[in-house]
Amino acid sequence: MNTPAYDDENIFAKILRGEIPSVKLYEDDDTLAFMDVMPQAPGHLLVIPKQPSRNLLDADPEVLAKTIPVVQKLAKAAKTAFDADGIFVAQFNEPAAGQTVFHLHFHVIPRREGTVLKPHSGGMEDMEVLKENAEKIRAAL
Ligand code: AMP
Repeated sequence: MNTPAYDDENIFAKILRGEIPSVKLYEDDDTLAFMDVMPQAPGHLLVIPKQPSRNLLDADPEVLAKTIPVVQKLAKAAKTAFDADGIFVAQFNEPAAGQTVFHLHFHVIPRREGTVLKPHSGGMEDMEVLKENAEKIRAAL
């Protein structure tokens, strides 16, 4: 089956248009990084290209080439900010693979030895906690 068409009413398109709020970490001409509102671990953030694509399968390789360095930049900052033992980078394509928001995004999740991740798309985090965690990541950028 072909990848379905991009729907610009998805929640990340609305964040990019400024129609709904987000806790922003980093922005350049091509890319935006912000806190995941349902973090699987403290510091869980998302990196998205501004150019619309549903996921990796329909993305322009040139956009990917601009996005991955930003994923690396945020991964390093999150590792420092949360004194993490490792960083989990995840990216899901289509519902069968766990995708729930249909604008390409990379999850960046700090991991500590012996700590179990919370479920994917679990509970909403308190906004003040997200803002405090974002401040730590911004300070490490
Ligand atoms: P995925 O299953 O890869 O499509 O994951 C989508 C992610 O987006 C989940 O981790 C959600 O917690 C997160 N998410 C959903 N809505 C928002 C939002 N408004 N702001 C930030 N993150 C969101």
